[in-house]
Amino acid sequence: MQNLSRVAPDLRVANSHTHSVSPSGFPFVSRGNLETLQANLGYRCNQTCSHCHVDAGPKRTEMMDKTTVNWLLRCIETHNIQALDLTGGAPEMNDNFRDLVVAARKLGVRVIDRCNLSILLQPDQKDLAEFLAREQVDVVASLPCYQKENVDQQRGKGVFDLSIAGLRKLNALGYGQPGSKLSLNLVYNPAGATLPPSQESLEVVYKKQLGNDYDIEFNQLFVMVNMPIRRFESRMAAKGQLIEYKNLLKNSFSPENLDGLMCRSLVSVDWRGYVYDCDFNQMLNMPLKNADNERLHISELITMDLCGNAIHVDGHCFGCTAGQGSSCQGALVA
Ligand code: SF4
Ligand code: SF4
Repeated sequence: MQNLSRVAPDLRVANSHTHSVSPSGFPFVSRGNLETLQANLGYRCNQTCSHCHVDAGPKRTEMMDKTTVNWLLRCIETHNIQALDLTGGAPEMNDNFRDLVVAARKLGVRVIDRCNLSILLQPDQKDLAEFLAREQVDVVASLPCYQKENVDQQRGKGVFDLSIAGLRKLNALGYGQPGSKLSLNLVYNPAGATLPPSQESLEVVYKKQLGNDYDIEFNQLFVMVNMPIRRFESRMAAKGQLIEYKNLLKNSFSPENLDGLMCRSLVSVDWRGYVYDCDFNQMLNMPLKNADNERLHISELITMDLCGNAIHVDGHCFGCTAGQGSSCQGALVA
């Protein structure tokens, strides 16, 4: 396999995640083994949440095509990928979603669906929950609060009730139930310019509230930091809180989070097949480059070994290292 160190000289300065600091002040970090392929299947979504770092919504047209989906599957095979993490938009709205899930599961890969819950109630997705259960797909679902007002304020009017209905559907199929192999994890992110509370203690509160009020069960709560990019960045800027929030992230830097950064073991692939260190770098248009200094496409990744290469870091990365840390699997240091 080719190594990218020849083609990204500006990033080559880092061969250890602790030795030097980038111009943004964030330490350089390098890649470990590639374990997870995170694919953004497109920006269309049935919701338009205020914190969305993708700017997703019903009018977006960018969707991953079948050819690119097939490259994902080739990449899973050649890199012995352990997990396929599907995101969007609402990934289920991509016409290739179900074929991809079935093919990936046949390859023995763990598949994660980042589900907004309300999609499970859409008229054309009424069998979606059953499909996910049949294929034993792990569901990671956003629910930024256990209170209706807060969820509706952040994710749109009526979204809380739809989310509860979606969770009930999943529970009825065995998701989140004791002894079940069907995993259901929820995601919390703060409504405003603050760091999330302790993941461990908030999970206890969520389980109590959702259990008592709605009879809902789930496995784990993932607590995530809001990234100051796209829609959330604009919102913070409009409120005059952006600089303060960025300073909060920077001042809350915890070096013990560096080892667990998700970008050390994951690549993110956009709807066109271009490769990034993570979903945030994708949104900031910070792609990996090939030998011709052009955007690296997943069709080229098949024959490359990224291990040891420097990760493209910048000021937004402080969102991943603030406090208990943040990743697509929640806090880094619980
Ligand atoms: S946060 Fe998720 S559910 Fe909300 S608009 Fe963005 S992609 Fe859709
Ligand atoms: S924003 Fe992306 S590249 Fe930066 S630390 Fe977080 S996961 Fe890594």
